Amino acid sequence: MDQIIIEGLKIFAHHGVYREENEKGQNFYVNAVLETDTRQAGIMDDLDLSTNYGEVCVFIDHFLREHTYRLIETAAERTAEALLLRFPLIRRLTLEVRKPEAPIPLPFASVSVKIVRGWRRAYLSCGSNMGDREAHLDGAVEALRADEKCRVLRVSDWIETAPYGGVEQADFLNGAVMLDTLYTPSELLERLHEIEREHGRERKIHWGPRTLDLDILLYEDCVMCTEELTIPHADMANRDFVLKPLAQIAPYERHPLTGKSILQMCGELAAISSR
Ligand code: ADP
Ligand code: MG
Repeated sequence: MDQIIIEGLKIFAHHGVYREENEKGQNFYVNAVLETDTRQAGIMDDLDLSTNYGEVCVFIDHFLREHTYRLIETAAERTAEALLLRFPLIRRLTLEVRKPEAPIPLPFASVSVKIVRGWRRAYLSCGSNMGDREAHLDGAVEALRADEKCRVLRVSDWIETAPYGGVEQADFLNGAVMLDTLYTPSELLERLHEIEREHGRERKIHWGPRTLDLDILLYEDCVMCTEELTIPHADMANRDFVLKPLAQIAPYERHPLTGKSILQMCGELAAISSR
């Protein structure tokens, strides 16, 4: 992706673990690489189609002077997040906060923290088979829309499906959501659990009835498996009620392990079911 690069922005601020640093202050230097598509701005010669690097510099300067953090890790983390929320065309950024006057009792040139943060594309599945099913699914989308760290981009139709997993229960309403998010996979899962709880979800029977179930299907090209979280979702290839709505909003998205598109996965599952 194209880059807008800011080097050596000098800011007098008060970050530090020692009280003297907080009281006296010192110089910090910021480097930033903003990943953004500059094509349209470049062709049209129009600043409104790009991110104004002057405004970015002023924003970083205000932010780092208005807040005082103990760690430059925190200074970098919070500044990066604030920039991504404030400047919508920045997809990703690298931010380095340098502290050349840091209290180190040895000769040194500089010390810095450098992080990469950005919007990540994720796909979720949602399902409900208790109470007002439509209201639970709509409510989940509303909660995601209201969260500044999520940008809901597409929502499938809600489709009626038969229950899965052998438990006798009412039919489900299922759907899929495409979003960009600043959450890491585990933070996103935690957020989804919160939304499930707000909708009265209780975990009683595995694969049993539920007011709201929110799962992460895909998260960028991420492949991971921990005790809490498997991405891509382990069972998505076998679930018609997951693939069908997902195919509505992302037919050509590919599974990062098999390389198969969602449409292809739908076709293969249908072929198995009709045997
Ligand atoms: P299910 O979604 O399979 O019907 P639950 O919603 O009760 O069942 O989820 C059980 C656990 O599955 C969650 O607490 C979560 O830790 C784990 N899990 C593993 N991978 C995922 C994923 N990709 N999305 C959501 N939950 C997941
Ligand atoms: Mg779940």
